[in-house]
Amino acid sequence: MNISEIMARLGVEERLFTRGALAVTTPIDGSELAQVALDDGAVVTTKIGQAHRAFLQWRNVPAPRRGELVRLLGEELRAHKDDLGRLVTIECGKILSEGLGEVQEMIDICDFAVGLSRQLYGLTIASERPGHHMRETWHPLGTVGIISAFNFPVAVWSWNAALALVCGNSCVWKPSEKTPLTAIAVQSLFERAAARFGDEAPKGLCSIIIGDREAGEHLVDDKRIALVSATGSTRMGREVGPRVASRFGRLLLELGGNNAGIVAPSADIDLALRGVCFAAAGTAGQRCTSLRRLFVHASIYDDFTERLKAAYKSLPVGDPLNSGALVGPLIDKAAFDRMHYALDRAKAQGGVITGGERVSEPGWYVRPAIVETPSHEGIVLEETFAPILYVMRYESLEQAIELQNTVAQGLSSCIFTRDLLEAEQFLSAFGSDCGIANVNIGPSGAEIGGAFGGEKETGGGRESGSDSWKAYMRRQTQTVNYSSALPLAQGVKFEI
Ligand code: NAD
Repeated sequence: MNISEIMARLGVEERLFTRGALAVTTPIDGSELAQVALDDGAVVTTKIGQAHRAFLQWRNVPAPRRGELVRLLGEELRAHKDDLGRLVTIECGKILSEGLGEVQEMIDICDFAVGLSRQLYGLTIASERPGHHMRETWHPLGTVGIISAFNFPVAVWSWNAALALVCGNSCVWKPSEKTPLTAIAVQSLFERAAARFGDEAPKGLCSIIIGDREAGEHLVDDKRIALVSATGSTRMGREVGPRVASRFGRLLLELGGNNAGIVAPSADIDLALRGVCFAAAGTAGQRCTSLRRLFVHASIYDDFTERLKAAYKSLPVGDPLNSGALVGPLIDKAAFDRMHYALDRAKAQGGVITGGERVSEPGWYVRPAIVETPSHEGIVLEETFAPILYVMRYESLEQAIELQNTVAQGLSSCIFTRDLLEAEQFLSAFGSDCGIANVNIGPSGAEIGGAFGGEKETGGGRESGSDSWKAYMRRQTQTVNYSSALPLAQGVKFEI
């Protein structure tokens, strides 16, 4: 597969993807796409130093002006959506409409951030002291270290960077070692936007470092990284979290999910089937929000499960660049092995498996699997990053919600119902314990307007819309005395 033309249109110099120690392959057929250079510790340290110096300048640029840089970045992304979306598909294997959708998400968050650049509002607070005024001001934070996963190779960067930039921060990004090309392309588009913006954008304002977990560890441990925003497995978060905490750095963790859905007796069955298929089999089960556990009410279980199995059999699996395909490949052989390890365990637990077999090669193409499982335990409680859907029957909504919430992760959840009371109970304080809870849509496919993230072992971070921007700023409580007296709070007296 030749990517030279795409990379040229994206403005990437040939030397950046034709030499280096890291061979980049495509999951489409396993062939080698490129070679890229790895950044060693010294280079990472230099880039962090540059980013820190860039921050010291950038924080003084007025926020609406900073928004202008992000507006220009959005323009570059709009102009190059087709090429970048195609490159996403080539590098990580999601189907083309999802590759393009990922770039659209970048454009959307840029638009959001441009508006936000004029809305970094703080509160004014009534002071208890006469002649005093209190307010809350949001200041730029510092350099943001972004660590991202292979499955959303570019959108996650933009969720962080678009907000971080308007908030007055600089960014250093370590993409997944499985998807460095899309990161190199995005960096090129950012540099174009920065060049159009002019000298006010300091050198090193946004940079990338290419490498594996060791390169990530440099970001994690460097005190000049004010916020580490890390997206990936819970295993990674468990390593990164304590290290950042030990130096009192700020953390934003977006980790694994084990998302559930409930199909209630009153559900619109056709709609639920479509919603379940997209969420569980779409992106070959490689979304953090993919549907992995499904609770179907006993009264509709047999009928629903039969129809689901039939729908799964007809899902077109194949080359994600082909417009007919709905399910692309797994990222690599290791993902395939993990999928089959999970299916073996599920079988040993009494699960009845439909699908899961390899359907074509080269590349790791699988038929998404449905596992009808008698119990909610063992492997069902773990996130396997592959298209496996565990299906179970339930009797009462209370029981389904309890089972849904018993796993360690708390990212996304959904219920299919036309019963208002059931829907509201699912969304109530005693309902879903996840960061995302949906009614009559699956758990995946979030919009950028809402805060994205989850509870428990998903890490607790929130990114993207709503007031997530506050994670990228330093809150300062300010008190001004405009009188000539000095009254103390709480009536304390200290006369000299
Ligand atoms: P991964 O944890 O293997 O790697 C993610 C990133 O972390 C990579 O860039 C990797 O190099 C880096 N990394 C790994 N160990 C590190 C360490 N000790 N220190 C610093 N950096 C380290 O994950 P993956 O296989 O690329 O992605 C799949 C996982 O990501 C799934 O668990 C999925 O649920 C999760 N994910 C979560 C979200 C979310 O928003 N919650 C989004 C996408 C993916």
